[in-house]
Amino acid sequence: MQNSHPIIIIGAGLTGLTTAFHLVKRGKKVLILEKNDRIGGQIQTLQKDGFVFETGPNTGSVSHPEVTELFTALSPACELETADESAKRRLIWKDGRFLELPGGLLSGITTPIITWKDKFRILGEPFRPKGTNPDESVAELALRRLGKSYVDYCVDPFISGIYAGDPERLVTRYALPKLYNLEQNYGSFIKGTIAKAKEPKTERDRLATKKVFSARGGLSNLTAALADAIGRENILLSVSSLTIQPVENHWQVIYSTPEGEKRLQAEKVITTVGASVLPEILPFIDRMEMDKITGLRYAQIVQVAVGMKNTQGLRFNAFGGLIPSREKKDLLGILFPAACFSGRAPEKGMTFSFFIGGVKAGQLTELSDKGIENIVVREFHEMLRFPANVEPDMIYIARHAHAIPQYEKSTGERLETIEKLQNRYPGLILAGNIRNGISMADRILQGTTIAGEI
Ligand SMILES: Cc1cc2nc3c(=O)[nH]c(=O)nc-3n(C[C@H](O)[C@H](O)[C@H](O)COP(=O)(O)OP(=O)(O)OC[C@H]3O[C@@H](n4cnc5c(N)ncnc54)[C@H](O)[C@@H]3O)c2cc1C
Repeated sequence: MQNSHPIIIIGAGLTGLTTAFHLVKRGKKVLILEKNDRIGGQIQTLQKDGFVFETGPNTGSVSHPEVTELFTALSPACELETADESAKRRLIWKDGRFLELPGGLLSGITTPIITWKDKFRILGEPFRPKGTNPDESVAELALRRLGKSYVDYCVDPFISGIYAGDPERLVTRYALPKLYNLEQNYGSFIKGTIAKAKEPKTERDRLATKKVFSARGGLSNLTAALADAIGRENILLSVSSLTIQPVENHWQVIYSTPEGEKRLQAEKVITTVGASVLPEILPFIDRMEMDKITGLRYAQIVQVAVGMKNTQGLRFNAFGGLIPSREKKDLLGILFPAACFSGRAPEKGMTFSFFIGGVKAGQLTELSDKGIENIVVREFHEMLRFPANVEPDMIYIARHAHAIPQYEKSTGERLETIEKLQNRYPGLILAGNIRNGISMADRILQGTTIAGEI
């Protein structure tokens, strides 16, 4: 049939590209339709004034074997780069300075980040009963098992770093399923961690690690290698007004390009777009039903890349620093990517990524570029301790209106609705970060799984 494609994927971000890559490897014919004039979605590496920096995600975690396997399959076109040892040092802002998060028992006892009361209280963690509320928030769970200073100075900044979210609103079993299962399956975080470390691991299990990854030269090299392997001719950029409709036993996909309106037929359509885009793409779905998906809230983030050609002796050998909400700063955190990955800054220089906004301070993302720059330059001096007469050599502001989905209480209803729609409309797969996790590793796992199931 002319103008017929067995599988159409909507969105050329990491989910769409990974799904297509695995389908093509299995000999399937795939077409990706992308609204932007570039591939990558939230992933974008830029080069400016001798700096290489990310405007979206900076690093991922090698938390699923599928991540390592994807890079292996793409080698040598793209090389997995795991972070330097520096990445093990994580900083937390408290009382006007960055303190190192404890990495061992001794530092755990002496750290001023946690109160003495909670340090003693942690000894009782293995004996505390497990939770019974399946919709318990991350903050409630952490308060119950660990204590208030852990919530304020570990959990809150950790949630800022991953979700730019609010631990009071994120539901643990959806937002941090591994943590939820640790308590549910082993009765305690400590007991669970020890038991899991003793469990036998297959060679494949061992591919999943706690290591932090990027692609050598930046994450856009990963999406570029995926696109090359898929075949650029199978990826159509700059499509607009895209809608899909079920027609008899296939799908009709209608969209516009600069050359005019196009119509295609497909056996399967896989969407990888965010929740807010789905109503326009799927106009045949009842509004009330769709609301259960579009109710998904996204954190707004402004990410500012800052480059210094010479740090003048200041050292930043850490992954970066996170800022607890209690400290009342206008920042979520600052990463030091050039300390962890090669070739990101001139030899004596450094790149930083400043994060502003998130669920708790979304109003800051409405500031003008000048307003954002003022915050960054202020904290460049106050938090990073650059002398008053030194200014950043490069500043690049990237705004994300729909940065990170928040897996809050509405998640149960959303997941049920997605499943119902997929059952009612065979051949329609609703993928992307509306389900199965928000990280790049989760996106790679989802794309690999979907391709394997088709
Ligand atoms: C600022 C920021 C920091 C992050 N930090 C991290 C991190 O440190 N670690 C980590 O693991 N993850 C991080 N993430 C999350 C990570 O970026 C995402 O999980 C991942 O990139 C999402 O990929 P995706 O393909 O699911 O979605 P997207 O990248 O959003 O791709 C969806 C694609 O669909 C396209 N599209 C939208 N509407 C249409 C339409 N109507 N028609 C056709 N195409 C359309 C979009 O243009 C886009 O290309 C971060 C995200 C942001 C924004």
